[in-house]
Amino acid sequence: MNISKRVIIVSNRLPIKVTRKEGVLNYQKSEGGLATALSTIYKQGNNLWIGWAGTDVNDSEEEKIIKDLSIQNLSPVFLSSEEINGFYEGFSNGTLWPLFHYCPTYGEYSQEYWQTYKRVNQKFADIIIETATKDDIIWIHDYQLMLVPSLVRKSIPEANIGFFQHIPFPSYEIFRLLPWRKELLEGLLGADIVGFHTFDDVRHFLSSVNRISGFNNMSNKVRIESRIISADAFPISIDYKKYRALADNAITKRHEQKIRQLINNNQLIISIDRLDYSKGILQRLEAYQIFLQQHPELIGRVTMMQVIVPSRDSVPKYRQLKEEINRLVSEINGQFSIIGWQPIQYFYRSLPIHLLSALYKVADVALVTPMRDGMNLVSKEFVASKLNRKGVLILSEMAGSARELTEAILVNPNDIWDVANKIFLALNMSESDQIDRMTAMQHTVSQFDIETWLQNFMEKLLEVKTQQKTMMTRSINISLRKKISISYFNSTNRIIFLDYDGTLVPFTDNPQQAAPDSDLIDLLSTLAHDTHNRVVLSSGRDYQTLENWFGQLPIDIIAEHGAWYKEHGTKWCSAQNLSDTWKPEIIHIMNQYNRRTPGVSIEEKSYSVAWHFRKVVNGLGELRAAELVNEIKDYVSDRGLQALQGDKVIEIKSSIVNKGSAAKRWIEQGGYDFFMAIGDDYTDEDTFNALPPESITIKVGTNISAARYYLKSHEDVRELLQQMQLCHSNERIT
Ligand code: UDP
Repeated sequence: MNISKRVIIVSNRLPIKVTRKEGVLNYQKSEGGLATALSTIYKQGNNLWIGWAGTDVNDSEEEKIIKDLSIQNLSPVFLSSEEINGFYEGFSNGTLWPLFHYCPTYGEYSQEYWQTYKRVNQKFADIIIETATKDDIIWIHDYQLMLVPSLVRKSIPEANIGFFQHIPFPSYEIFRLLPWRKELLEGLLGADIVGFHTFDDVRHFLSSVNRISGFNNMSNKVRIESRIISADAFPISIDYKKYRALADNAITKRHEQKIRQLINNNQLIISIDRLDYSKGILQRLEAYQIFLQQHPELIGRVTMMQVIVPSRDSVPKYRQLKEEINRLVSEINGQFSIIGWQPIQYFYRSLPIHLLSALYKVADVALVTPMRDGMNLVSKEFVASKLNRKGVLILSEMAGSARELTEAILVNPNDIWDVANKIFLALNMSESDQIDRMTAMQHTVSQFDIETWLQNFMEKLLEVKTQQKTMMTRSINISLRKKISISYFNSTNRIIFLDYDGTLVPFTDNPQQAAPDSDLIDLLSTLAHDTHNRVVLSSGRDYQTLENWFGQLPIDIIAEHGAWYKEHGTKWCSAQNLSDTWKPEIIHIMNQYNRRTPGVSIEEKSYSVAWHFRKVVNGLGELRAAELVNEIKDYVSDRGLQALQGDKVIEIKSSIVNKGSAAKRWIEQGGYDFFMAIGDDYTDEDTFNALPPESITIKVGTNISAARYYLKSHEDVRELLQQMQLCHSNERIT
């Protein structure tokens, strides 16, 4: 893949392991799919991969390792055994790993681990900061480095930072158990894009951001000040072509023969996992035990091969798991073995890749049943290796790959009785069914392989950066402020449309509490008393309230999104042909929702009804609002009404009135040489669209808008209006 910028990859481990043999340093390459895929990037030009070298080294060795690795574009981070203990084995694998794999009772909460995790994340960040510039792409990987994005952002505010999480992101209910949940989220929010394997992970992340950090999201984007952060799903995959070629290799074929002899041409079920409690190994063995009990006729005719790759077995929980597996395998073998056959062939070791490929090829069934897995590559490798397209995949719904490999037999790994049934079903599946399912899955894996994953992530990162730049150029800064003020000063017949809630005042839980303060009244009064100005307050509020609050000012007012309007000095008029006979029915339906949604309130206006859910617990309000809109959609469209979805409010009103058509009444009067409109809500989009293209239209907040410019808050709006007025009272400016 060709990327024009310099790329810095950062992960806990380098794609190389430094070892020592008789005092001599050795560099052992990692063959993993990710390392291979990323090697196409880090080896190019002056790109770089930063990570731990995988061993404890003494000071005198450090310099040599740095030198040896730098020629390969690798930059080592040196960690002491105390750091490895607290940061890697402690916080990463003892706290985050179990929690993120939905085993909260296994999680250890230790301040000491957390402090070391923070310190080591800072160490990684410092090395990045030493070498990176704002133009580089910094791609940080996985849960060991969740704080690094924001640590780098602090030193290089404009950096392009991507983060990819290779393990699941748990639901809010689990994530919130972490004492350091806020800091970890803030760490991730330093990135421009945060990638996960599945859309479920994305939803969980956004929900935690929303509830813990308080930032709302629009679809999959969060905006913090002028920075957009995108969260997205990028399912990782394998090098499909490599696994096809391996399956066709002569060494693999020789292994194939040996395996067939070993199992005596029985049907073969394979399971291949790293030693981990998330892999559901014990439950799977139990399912196989049930299967054998239920099908004594298959004794001697089916073999299960369970390969477990050693991992973390110095950790007590893992050691205990290993012992339990040993015990259960012995129990099953003892229970069912006959002379010349045993039900389980168990290997506790790592297999060379050709042997692995041969196993995939020979297997009739791959039993992949993790309790939770970010992706699970074994399932994809099995699919890719099936050159003859015969074989069945039984796959846990809890594996990320289940989202893509939908033609597999999907199982709940806790339902061991169903898994037992599915083993029987798989062993008896017709060849044509096997081929159909395998063909579809091979299509998926070949289409979305590791190269596509890489490309998608990089493209999205650059896309978010472009969006941010556009956003920056549309944010009103000092020079734009000056430009607007000059244009204001140099005009003599101005029209200014101002929305009220969220634009001139902040939102409050109770709409009646948002009465204008004296500063605002003074500001509007000054603007309106300028004989060159025509100020139109354009609001969704009822006209009586607006009259009470602003009746004394020389301004014009649009109320209820255009259902009512008034030019200063005249009486309130209502738009033509409006009916209110529908209101009781709508209020009746809304009341039914109120009983199920604590905190909502109904606001009845003359030609509209608003259902406010600002005080409802986050998430529930949105859910009920969607249900409400769905229930009334036919009623609403049959009567020429519209359900407007505003900021924490649903408003039902006539579809023939809106702020834009109301604004036209003023625009058509003509003669203006300065047009301005400011609003925060999407009802203000109609006003923006109704104005001539050269108008100064300003969106308050972060959402996508037709407006030309952005301001952050109502305070900024007031400041801009004040500045325009101030310039006006000073000397002519150019
Ligand atoms: N694997 C290996 N040696 C073995 C057996 C498996 O290197 O003896 C590889 C396997 O090919 C796969 C990886 O280990 O690429 C396991 O990845 P997966 O996503 O299934 O699980 P993880 O270990 O990452 O949780």
